[in-house]
Amino acid sequence: MTQLGFSTLAVHGGTELDPVTGAVTPSIATSVTFAAEYGTIGFSAEATVDEDVPFAYAREGHPNAAQLEHRLALLDGAEAAVVFSTGIAAISGLLLDVLSPGDHVLVSDISYAGTAEFTRGLLPSLGIEVGVADLSDLDDVQAALRPNTRLVYAETPCNPVLKLVDIAALADLAHRHGAELCVDGTFATPAVTRPLRFGADYVVYSLTKYMGGHGDALGGAVLGRAEPMDRLRRGIGVHLGGTLSPFNCWLIMRGLETLPIRMAAYAEGATRVARFLEEHPRVRSVRYPGLPSHPQYDLAERQMSSPSGMISFTVADHDAFGAGLKDRLEVFRYAASLGLSRSLILEARTDDLQRTTFKLDDEHLRRYRAWAGDGFFRLSIGLEDPGDLCDDLGRALMEGSDPWR
Ligand SMILES: *Cc1c(COP(=O)(O)O)cnc(C)c1O
Repeated sequence: MTQLGFSTLAVHGGTELDPVTGAVTPSIATSVTFAAEYGTIGFSAEATVDEDVPFAYAREGHPNAAQLEHRLALLDGAEAAVVFSTGIAAISGLLLDVLSPGDHVLVSDISYAGTAEFTRGLLPSLGIEVGVADLSDLDDVQAALRPNTRLVYAETPCNPVLKLVDIAALADLAHRHGAELCVDGTFATPAVTRPLRFGADYVVYSLTKYMGGHGDALGGAVLGRAEPMDRLRRGIGVHLGGTLSPFNCWLIMRGLETLPIRMAAYAEGATRVARFLEEHPRVRSVRYPGLPSHPQYDLAERQMSSPSGMISFTVADHDAFGAGLKDRLEVFRYAASLGLSRSLILEARTDDLQRTTFKLDDEHLRRYRAWAGDGFFRLSIGLEDPGDLCDDLGRALMEGSDPWR
């Protein structure tokens, strides 16, 4: 199936006609246990993750997870995938599997808050050293690498400020130091960037976002080479039990069928909105990988086949714009999360991110402020008419600006 195009794989990958019913559309198999031959299964959980016994007990694997894992692996050109109950279960699972006491992990100075909180909070208590670097700057990475660096953990574009990381260059640097590279590709999806092809060793996704695409199912995935994925499945997958339910697998499979056309639509809408914001007198700056004003526009063109649907922007009068925003918007919803049909907006304050994620040293804080200022608003552009989105933001910008009230 690997010869087929991306859109064909998004629709057909991992599925075949149901041999019993002939059903064309995937079915949901909700059984938690599966009949086996005498002598093939026992009480050990690890031992029943076995090729001879496709399914034994659903925590260890079930038909809908197998379908989804197969489709995900095809879309990213990976040898194997393991799905988890949430994105953070996938991320923490991979980190716990790869890292041992005495290892050093180098994490991006700007990461998804849940990843920052987990790495800075739990990993040191397990004897794992956590370092932070600006992964978009190879000199900064070089200076932060140590002899015991086992893994470099990146996000591109990163949540929430949309800074990019040059995956090929970072993979090369990590490998020369005997470390592996993991990329969180949640903001791009394989429709936009396939990190393994640029040399990453692992890619992780929150399937909750663009991949599922409808804001109605949590899920996560790790992809990589067959051997480490097998170890991850037998170890963390079985023993921590973050299994993705058959129903959520089925919902995410359905979401993936439209991933290519949704990513194209998000990019088209987001480009319209980003240009509108860039020209608006109350907007101070816009960060969007599809705009030539993005400081890494060249890298975006090289590494992303389209700019995805996330935008961040700063306004001249942040507090006046933010006050009562929820009630001034008619189409956008003021809410966390991203990558669904509905457009969302969320404030990100630098002091808040500092308090809740990484405490950056002066140099990294300076870099952060140079990129993101003291605070900004993050947009997840949905599938509505782009003109309505511009009108909605335009109204909110006018009403929320003191001088024009
Ligand atoms: C949301 C998100 C996660 C966590 O995923 P959940 O499904 O919410 O656990 C991880 N990485 C990024 C970049 C995210 O946006």
